[in-house]
Amino acid sequence: MTPLAEILAARIAATGPITVADYMAECLLHPVHGYYTTQPPFGKDGDFTTAPEISQMFGELVGLALGQTWLDQGAPATAVLAEVGPGRGTLMQDILRVLAKLPGASALRPHLVEASPRLRDEQARRVPDALWVDSVAELPNGPLFLVANEFFDALPVRQFVRAPNGWSERMVGLTEGSLAFGLSQAAPITALEHRLDNTKMGDIVETCAPAQRIVQEMAARVTRYGGAALLIDYGGWHSLGDTLQAVKTHAPDNPLAHPGEADLTAHVDFEPLAGVVAEAGAVAAPLTTQGVFLERLGITARAQALARAMPPAQLENHIAAHRRLTHPEEMGNLFKVLGITPQGTAPIAGTVP
Ligand code: SAH
Repeated sequence: MTPLAEILAARIAATGPITVADYMAECLLHPVHGYYTTQPPFGKDGDFTTAPEISQMFGELVGLALGQTWLDQGAPATAVLAEVGPGRGTLMQDILRVLAKLPGASALRPHLVEASPRLRDEQARRVPDALWVDSVAELPNGPLFLVANEFFDALPVRQFVRAPNGWSERMVGLTEGSLAFGLSQAAPITALEHRLDNTKMGDIVETCAPAQRIVQEMAARVTRYGGAALLIDYGGWHSLGDTLQAVKTHAPDNPLAHPGEADLTAHVDFEPLAGVVAEAGAVAAPLTTQGVFLERLGITARAQALARAMPPAQLENHIAAHRRLTHPEEMGNLFKVLGITPQGTAPIAGTVP
Protein backbone atom coordinates (compact mmCIF):
# COMPACT_ATOMS: atom_id res chain seq x y z
CA MET A 1 0.00 0.00 0.00
CA THR A 2 1.16 3.54 -0.68
CA PRO A 3 1.41 5.86 2.37
CA LEU A 4 -1.75 7.64 1.20
CA ALA A 5 -3.60 4.32 0.82
CA GLU A 6 -2.85 3.58 4.48
CA ILE A 7 -4.15 7.00 5.55
CA LEU A 8 -7.32 6.64 3.47
CA ALA A 9 -7.96 3.07 4.65
CA ALA A 10 -7.70 4.18 8.29
CA ARG A 11 -10.04 7.09 7.65
CA ILE A 12 -12.60 4.88 5.86
CA ALA A 13 -12.41 2.26 8.63
CA ALA A 14 -13.16 5.00 11.17
CA THR A 15 -15.79 7.08 9.40
CA GLY A 16 -17.08 5.09 6.43
CA PRO A 17 -16.73 5.15 2.62
CA ILE A 18 -15.75 8.39 0.83
CA THR A 19 -17.00 9.73 -2.51
CA VAL A 20 -14.96 9.32 -5.69
CA ALA A 21 -14.52 13.12 -5.59
CA ASP A 22 -13.02 13.02 -2.08
CA TYR A 23 -10.77 10.18 -3.17
CA MET A 24 -9.59 12.06 -6.27
CA ALA A 25 -8.97 15.28 -4.32
CA GLU A 26 -6.87 13.45 -1.69
CA CYS A 27 -4.88 11.58 -4.34
CA LEU A 28 -4.03 14.71 -6.31
CA LEU A 29 -3.67 17.43 -3.70
CA HIS A 30 -3.01 15.80 -0.29
CA PRO A 31 -0.54 18.28 1.29
CA VAL A 32 2.07 15.59 2.04
CA HIS A 33 1.34 12.60 -0.23
CA GLY A 34 -0.69 14.14 -3.10
CA TYR A 35 0.35 13.43 -6.67
CA TYR A 36 0.78 17.09 -7.65
CA THR A 37 2.52 17.78 -4.32
CA THR A 38 5.15 15.06 -4.68
CA GLN A 39 5.66 13.80 -8.23
CA PRO A 40 7.34 15.38 -11.26
CA PRO A 41 4.41 14.34 -13.46
CA PHE A 42 5.21 15.84 -16.85
CA GLY A 43 7.41 15.03 -19.78
CA LYS A 44 9.34 11.96 -20.86
CA ASP A 45 10.44 11.09 -17.32
CA GLY A 46 7.02 11.71 -15.81
CA ASP A 47 3.69 10.00 -16.16
CA PHE A 48 2.17 11.88 -19.05
CA THR A 49 2.93 14.48 -21.70
CA THR A 50 0.67 17.44 -22.43
CA ALA A 51 0.24 19.45 -25.63
CA PRO A 52 2.55 22.35 -24.65
CA GLU A 53 5.26 19.80 -23.77
CA ILE A 54 4.90 18.11 -27.18
CA SER A 55 5.67 21.18 -29.26
CA GLN A 56 6.16 24.95 -28.92
CA MET A 57 3.58 25.31 -31.72
CA PHE A 58 0.71 24.65 -29.31
CA GLY A 59 1.52 27.56 -26.98
CA GLU A 60 2.41 29.86 -29.87
CA LEU A 61 -0.98 29.36 -31.51
CA VAL A 62 -2.84 29.73 -28.20
CA GLY A 63 -0.87 32.97 -27.65
CA LEU A 64 -1.82 34.14 -31.12
CA ALA A 65 -5.53 33.42 -30.49
CA LEU A 66 -5.52 35.26 -27.14
CA GLY A 67 -3.43 38.13 -28.56
CA GLN A 68 -5.86 38.56 -31.47
CA THR A 69 -8.82 38.65 -29.06
CA TRP A 70 -7.00 41.25 -26.94
CA LEU A 71 -6.51 43.38 -30.11
CA ASP A 72 -10.18 42.82 -31.13
CA GLN A 73 -11.25 44.22 -27.77
CA GLY A 74 -9.17 47.39 -28.13
CA ALA A 75 -5.87 46.19 -26.60
CA PRO A 76 -6.80 47.13 -22.99
CA ALA A 77 -3.70 48.05 -20.98
CA THR A 78 -5.44 46.86 -17.78
CA ALA A 79 -5.85 43.31 -19.15
CA VAL A 80 -5.11 40.42 -16.79
CA LEU A 81 -3.26 37.59 -18.53
CA ALA A 82 -3.85 34.33 -16.64
CA GLU A 83 -3.36 30.58 -16.78
CA VAL A 84 -5.03 28.04 -14.52
CA GLY A 85 -3.10 24.84 -13.73
CA PRO A 86 0.12 25.85 -15.55
CA GLY A 87 2.08 22.60 -14.97
CA ARG A 88 5.75 23.28 -15.76
CA GLY A 89 5.05 26.78 -17.11
CA THR A 90 5.84 25.83 -20.71
CA LEU A 91 2.53 27.01 -22.16
CA MET A 92 2.76 30.47 -20.59
CA GLN A 93 6.40 30.76 -21.67
CA ASP A 94 5.39 30.10 -25.30
CA ILE A 95 2.38 32.47 -25.05
CA LEU A 96 4.61 35.27 -23.72
CA ARG A 97 7.08 34.83 -26.60
CA VAL A 98 4.25 35.47 -29.07
CA LEU A 99 2.68 38.35 -27.11
CA ALA A 100 6.08 40.06 -26.94
CA LYS A 101 5.66 40.71 -30.68
CA LEU A 102 2.42 42.71 -30.15
CA PRO A 103 3.05 46.36 -29.17
CA GLY A 104 1.58 46.88 -25.69
CA ALA A 105 0.99 43.22 -24.96
CA SER A 106 4.52 42.65 -23.67
CA ALA A 107 3.57 44.81 -20.66
CA LEU A 108 0.95 42.27 -19.53
CA ARG A 109 2.03 40.50 -16.35
CA PRO A 110 1.25 36.75 -16.35
CA HIS A 111 -0.87 35.48 -13.44
CA LEU A 112 -0.67 31.80 -12.60
CA VAL A 113 -3.35 29.95 -10.62
CA GLU A 114 -1.52 26.97 -9.09
CA ALA A 115 -2.27 24.81 -6.05
CA SER A 116 1.06 22.96 -5.79
CA PRO A 117 4.01 24.82 -4.17
CA ARG A 118 6.46 22.46 -5.90
CA LEU A 119 5.02 23.27 -9.32
CA ARG A 120 5.09 27.01 -8.51
CA ASP A 121 8.89 26.72 -8.16
CA GLU A 122 9.08 24.87 -11.48
CA GLN A 123 6.90 27.54 -13.16
CA ALA A 124 9.09 30.34 -11.77
CA ARG A 125 12.02 28.96 -13.76
CA ARG A 126 10.22 29.46 -17.08
CA VAL A 127 8.04 32.47 -16.21
CA PRO A 128 10.23 34.51 -13.85
CA ASP A 129 7.97 37.57 -13.60
CA ALA A 130 4.75 35.64 -12.92
CA LEU A 131 2.41 36.42 -10.03
CA TRP A 132 0.73 33.47 -8.28
CA VAL A 133 -2.74 33.22 -6.82
CA ASP A 134 -4.69 30.33 -5.32
CA SER A 135 -7.92 30.72 -7.28
CA VAL A 136 -9.54 32.53 -10.20
CA ALA A 137 -11.53 34.62 -7.69
CA GLU A 138 -8.24 36.09 -6.41
CA LEU A 139 -7.12 37.39 -9.82
CA PRO A 140 -7.06 41.20 -10.08
CA ASN A 141 -10.17 42.80 -11.59
CA GLY A 142 -9.89 43.76 -15.27
CA PRO A 143 -10.38 42.31 -18.76
CA LEU A 144 -9.37 38.68 -18.30
CA PHE A 145 -7.40 36.76 -20.97
CA LEU A 146 -7.18 33.25 -19.60
CA VAL A 147 -6.18 29.78 -20.73
CA ALA A 148 -6.57 26.41 -19.00
CA ASN A 149 -5.07 23.33 -20.64
CA GLU A 150 -5.61 19.92 -19.05
CA PHE A 151 -6.72 21.59 -15.82
CA PHE A 152 -10.40 20.67 -15.59
CA ASP A 153 -9.68 16.95 -16.00
CA ALA A 154 -7.83 17.07 -12.67
CA LEU A 155 -10.87 18.33 -10.77
CA PRO A 156 -12.72 15.78 -8.62
CA VAL A 157 -15.86 14.21 -10.10
CA ARG A 158 -18.70 12.42 -8.34
CA GLN A 159 -20.16 9.35 -10.02
CA PHE A 160 -23.80 8.31 -9.88
CA VAL A 161 -25.28 5.02 -11.07
CA ARG A 162 -28.90 5.04 -12.25
CA ALA A 163 -31.06 2.75 -10.10
CA PRO A 164 -34.80 1.96 -10.16
CA ASN A 165 -35.53 4.36 -7.31
CA GLY A 166 -33.05 7.15 -8.02
CA TRP A 167 -29.27 7.22 -8.14
CA SER A 168 -26.61 5.37 -6.13
CA GLU A 169 -23.36 7.22 -5.59
CA ARG A 170 -20.19 5.28 -6.38
CA MET A 171 -18.04 5.31 -3.22
CA VAL A 172 -14.55 4.20 -2.21
CA GLY A 173 -14.73 1.84 0.76
CA LEU A 174 -12.82 -1.16 2.08
CA THR A 175 -12.99 -4.83 1.18
CA GLU A 176 -10.79 -7.01 3.40
CA GLY A 177 -8.69 -3.98 4.32
CA SER A 178 -8.09 -2.83 0.71
CA LEU A 179 -9.64 0.12 -1.10
CA ALA A 180 -12.62 -1.01 -3.20
CA PHE A 181 -15.52 0.59 -5.03
CA GLY A 182 -19.02 0.28 -3.62
CA LEU A 183 -22.41 1.97 -3.97
CA SER A 184 -24.45 4.13 -1.62
CA GLN A 185 -28.18 3.55 -1.12
CA ALA A 186 -30.16 4.85 -4.07
CA ALA A 187 -32.10 8.10 -3.66
CA PRO A 188 -33.67 10.63 -6.06
CA ILE A 189 -31.32 13.54 -6.87
CA THR A 190 -32.88 16.78 -8.08
CA ALA A 191 -29.70 17.94 -9.82
CA LEU A 192 -29.74 14.80 -12.00
CA GLU A 193 -33.42 14.93 -13.01
CA HIS A 194 -32.50 16.18 -16.49
CA ARG A 195 -30.52 12.98 -17.03
CA LEU A 196 -33.51 10.67 -16.44
CA ASP A 197 -34.72 10.84 -20.03
CA ASN A 198 -31.29 10.18 -21.58
CA THR A 199 -29.93 7.35 -19.40
CA LYS A 200 -30.98 3.78 -18.64
CA MET A 201 -30.66 1.59 -15.53
CA GLY A 202 -27.02 0.99 -14.58
CA ASP A 203 -25.66 3.98 -16.56
CA ILE A 204 -23.05 6.10 -14.80
CA VAL A 205 -23.11 9.89 -15.00
CA GLU A 206 -20.42 12.13 -13.59
CA THR A 207 -20.77 15.59 -12.09
CA CYS A 208 -18.05 18.12 -11.34
CA ALA A 209 -19.30 20.94 -9.13
CA PRO A 210 -15.83 22.53 -8.70
CA ALA A 211 -15.49 22.90 -12.50
CA GLN A 212 -18.85 24.64 -12.65
CA ARG A 213 -17.89 27.05 -9.86
CA ILE A 214 -14.58 27.92 -11.53
CA VAL A 215 -16.16 28.45 -14.98
CA GLN A 216 -18.87 30.57 -13.34
CA GLU A 217 -16.15 32.84 -11.91
CA MET A 218 -14.32 33.06 -15.27
CA ALA A 219 -17.49 33.80 -17.25
CA ALA A 220 -18.74 36.37 -14.74
CA ARG A 221 -15.43 38.24 -15.06
CA VAL A 222 -15.45 38.06 -18.86
CA THR A 223 -19.03 39.42 -18.84
CA ARG A 224 -18.20 42.20 -16.38
CA TYR A 225 -14.74 43.33 -17.48
CA GLY A 226 -14.33 41.87 -20.98
CA GLY A 227 -11.64 39.45 -22.15
CA ALA A 228 -11.81 35.78 -23.07
CA ALA A 229 -11.23 32.31 -21.66
CA LEU A 230 -9.97 29.32 -23.57
CA LEU A 231 -10.56 25.89 -22.01
CA ILE A 232 -8.76 22.95 -23.60
CA ASP A 233 -9.22 19.43 -22.30
CA TYR A 234 -10.16 15.90 -23.16
CA GLY A 235 -13.76 15.02 -22.87
CA GLY A 236 -16.93 15.72 -24.72
CA TRP A 237 -20.49 16.88 -24.61
CA HIS A 238 -22.95 15.17 -22.28
CA SER A 239 -21.10 12.86 -19.88
CA LEU A 240 -21.97 9.19 -19.91
CA GLY A 241 -20.06 6.33 -18.31
CA ASP A 242 -17.12 5.95 -15.95
CA THR A 243 -14.22 8.07 -17.25
CA LEU A 244 -12.08 8.00 -14.09
CA GLN A 245 -8.61 6.94 -15.15
CA ALA A 246 -5.19 6.57 -13.61
CA VAL A 247 -1.89 6.86 -15.46
CA LYS A 248 1.49 5.90 -14.03
CA THR A 249 4.70 6.09 -16.07
CA HIS A 250 2.82 6.48 -19.36
CA ALA A 251 0.63 3.37 -18.81
CA PRO A 252 -2.94 2.95 -17.55
CA ASP A 253 -3.23 1.93 -13.90
CA ASN A 254 -6.09 0.78 -11.66
CA PRO A 255 -7.40 4.06 -10.10
CA LEU A 256 -7.37 2.51 -6.60
CA ALA A 257 -3.96 0.82 -6.88
CA HIS A 258 -1.49 3.67 -6.21
CA PRO A 259 -3.21 6.62 -4.52
CA GLY A 260 -0.89 9.63 -4.56
CA GLU A 261 1.55 7.95 -6.95
CA ALA A 262 -0.52 7.86 -10.16
CA ASP A 263 -2.19 10.72 -12.00
CA LEU A 264 -5.97 10.59 -11.72
CA THR A 265 -8.26 12.32 -14.20
CA ALA A 266 -11.79 12.22 -15.56
CA HIS A 267 -13.13 13.37 -18.91
CA VAL A 268 -14.50 16.90 -18.89
CA ASP A 269 -18.20 17.24 -19.70
CA PHE A 270 -18.38 20.58 -21.50
CA GLU A 271 -22.17 20.69 -21.70
CA PRO A 272 -22.87 21.85 -18.12
CA LEU A 273 -19.89 24.23 -18.36
CA ALA A 274 -21.34 25.91 -21.48
CA GLY A 275 -24.63 26.19 -19.56
CA VAL A 276 -22.87 28.03 -16.73
CA VAL A 277 -21.25 30.40 -19.26
CA ALA A 278 -24.65 31.34 -20.72
CA GLU A 279 -26.15 31.84 -17.25
CA ALA A 280 -23.30 34.22 -16.41
CA GLY A 281 -24.20 36.31 -19.48
CA ALA A 282 -21.18 35.38 -21.64
CA VAL A 283 -21.02 33.46 -24.93
CA ALA A 284 -19.64 29.92 -25.27
CA ALA A 285 -18.47 29.17 -28.81
CA PRO A 286 -19.53 25.81 -30.26
CA LEU A 287 -17.29 23.05 -28.89
CA THR A 288 -14.37 22.54 -31.32
CA THR A 289 -11.85 19.72 -31.51
CA GLN A 290 -8.21 20.55 -30.81
CA GLY A 291 -7.20 19.34 -34.26
CA VAL A 292 -9.61 21.67 -36.05
CA PHE A 293 -8.78 24.57 -33.68
CA LEU A 294 -5.04 24.29 -34.38
CA GLU A 295 -5.54 23.85 -38.14
CA ARG A 296 -7.73 26.98 -38.27
CA LEU A 297 -4.97 28.89 -36.47
CA GLY A 298 -2.45 27.81 -39.10
CA ILE A 299 -0.46 25.04 -37.43
CA THR A 300 0.50 23.54 -40.79
CA ALA A 301 2.08 26.79 -42.02
CA ARG A 302 3.83 27.24 -38.66
CA ALA A 303 5.10 23.64 -38.77
CA GLN A 304 6.53 24.20 -42.26
CA ALA A 305 8.21 27.47 -41.25
CA LEU A 306 9.86 25.80 -38.25
CA ALA A 307 10.84 22.78 -40.36
CA ARG A 308 12.76 24.97 -42.84
CA ALA A 309 15.10 26.18 -40.08
CA MET A 310 15.48 22.79 -38.42
CA PRO A 311 18.45 20.40 -38.53
CA PRO A 312 17.38 17.16 -40.30
CA ALA A 313 17.86 15.15 -37.07
CA GLN A 314 15.02 17.04 -35.41
CA LEU A 315 12.66 16.87 -38.36
CA GLU A 316 11.20 13.46 -37.61
CA ASN A 317 10.22 14.47 -34.04
CA HIS A 318 8.77 17.72 -35.31
CA ILE A 319 6.54 16.00 -37.88
CA ALA A 320 5.43 13.48 -35.24
CA ALA A 321 4.57 16.33 -32.85
CA HIS A 322 2.40 18.05 -35.46
CA ARG A 323 0.60 14.77 -36.06
CA ARG A 324 0.21 14.04 -32.37
CA LEU A 325 -1.41 17.41 -31.66
CA THR A 326 -3.84 17.37 -34.59
CA HIS A 327 -4.49 13.87 -35.96
CA PRO A 328 -7.99 12.53 -35.18
CA GLU A 329 -6.52 9.26 -33.89
CA GLU A 330 -4.08 11.05 -31.58
CA MET A 331 -5.04 14.18 -29.59
CA GLY A 332 -6.93 15.86 -32.45
CA ASN A 333 -10.44 14.59 -31.72
CA LEU A 334 -10.33 13.57 -28.06
CA PHE A 335 -9.26 17.05 -26.94
CA LYS A 336 -11.86 19.80 -27.19
CA VAL A 337 -11.70 23.58 -27.07
CA LEU A 338 -14.34 25.81 -25.48
CA GLY A 339 -14.00 29.56 -26.11
CA ILE A 340 -15.71 32.07 -23.80
CA THR A 341 -16.16 35.72 -24.82
CA PRO A 342 -18.47 38.61 -23.86
CA GLN A 343 -21.67 39.14 -25.81
CA GLY A 344 -21.23 41.36 -28.87
CA THR A 345 -17.49 40.75 -29.37
CA ALA A 346 -15.64 38.57 -31.86
CA PRO A 347 -15.19 34.91 -30.84
CA ILE A 348 -11.67 33.67 -30.11
CA ALA A 349 -9.82 32.91 -33.35
CA GLY A 350 -9.89 29.20 -34.18
CA THR A 351 -13.07 28.45 -32.21
CA VAL A 352 -15.34 29.20 -35.19
CA PRO A 353 -14.87 28.63 -38.95
N1 SAH B 1 -1.57 22.93 -18.11
C1 SAH B 1 -0.38 22.12 -17.91
C2 SAH B 1 -0.50 21.11 -16.77
C3 SAH B 1 -1.75 20.33 -16.60
S1 SAH B 1 -1.72 19.31 -15.13
C4 SAH B 1 0.03 21.46 -19.19
O1 SAH B 1 -0.72 21.53 -20.15
O2 SAH B 1 1.11 20.89 -19.27
C5 SAH B 1 -2.81 20.12 -14.02
C6 SAH B 1 -2.29 21.36 -13.36
O3 SAH B 1 -3.33 21.88 -12.53
C7 SAH B 1 -1.10 21.17 -12.44
O4 SAH B 1 -0.30 22.33 -12.55
C8 SAH B 1 -1.75 21.07 -11.06
O5 SAH B 1 -0.89 21.33 -10.00
C9 SAH B 1 -2.85 22.08 -11.19
N2 SAH B 1 -3.98 21.91 -10.30
C10 SAH B 1 -4.67 20.77 -10.07
N3 SAH B 1 -5.71 20.99 -9.23
C11 SAH B 1 -5.69 22.31 -8.95
C12 SAH B 1 -6.52 23.19 -8.17
N4 SAH B 1 -7.56 22.73 -7.50
N5 SAH B 1 -6.20 24.51 -8.14
C13 SAH B 1 -5.14 25.00 -8.83
N6 SAH B 1 -4.32 24.21 -9.59
C14 SAH B 1 -4.59 22.91 -9.64
